[in-house]
Amino acid sequence: MRSRKNYKRIVVKVGASLFAGKKNKLDTSLAAGIACQISGLIKEGKEVVLVSSGAIALGMSILKLTSRPKELARLQAAAAIGQHELMHVYKLALKKYGLNCAQLLLTWDDFLGLRYHNAKNTLNTLLKLKCVPIINENDTVATEEIKLGDNDRLSALVSILVGADLLIILSDVDGLLDRNKKIIRRVTKITGEIKSLGCPTSKNTCVGGMVTKIEAARIAVEERVPCVIANGAKKGIIAKVAQDPFSEGTIFLPK
Ligand code: GLU
Repeated sequence: MRSRKNYKRIVVKVGASLFAGKKNKLDTSLAAGIACQISGLIKEGKEVVLVSSGAIALGMSILKLTSRPKELARLQAAAAIGQHELMHVYKLALKKYGLNCAQLLLTWDDFLGLRYHNAKNTLNTLLKLKCVPIINENDTVATEEIKLGDNDRLSALVSILVGADLLIILSDVDGLLDRNKKIIRRVTKITGEIKSLGCPTSKNTCVGGMVTKIEAARIAVEERVPCVIANGAKKGIIAKVAQDPFSEGTIFLPK
């Protein structure tokens, strides 16, 4: 196991399902908890990059839609309506701890060539400024994550881009479950058996599910970034996993 002090730069991915509260009401109090934990980590000298979904979920709430639109253009419109609201929620939550945040809307094409270097330089500068970068897919021009990803794979690409020590994917499940619904604590090799444990989500507000989380973990560990899938609804989960990535959920380890 790597020593604690090595987990300095951490990418945290927040899934859209976490923003969907009971009866399709949005649970924005989630942002308050996230901000509190991020502030604690920054005080300890860690650097945190947030990859957050929720634009479509918030857009749906503003438009009073109870089920996820089927048409792609409507999903993109909902994302455009919800994205600035999502940032507003995070901005207010982080401000309470004296932290600034920055919005970065990326697409998969931005992880190639000159764009990759530009994104990397911006992110590194924001971290030096002790600002919290908040990344989402640019849903107006790209649709990979809207269609099936919920930003899982985007978060893996981001963790590689920033040279993260740890990727934490927060969802509404406790981790990867085996066929007896028992949590698998440690994955050292992503075999066909592990992949077969993934199943898409059945929620009507979001996409993704365990399939894309396992794929994100595969992308991350191949580039030597350990990845933890944990339940974002648990109190203090980010702080706990950042201190000890073996303490909660499922950890995927690089070779
Ligand atoms: N970019 C999307 C969002 O923020 C990803 C999640 C989704 O498709 O629901 O909502």
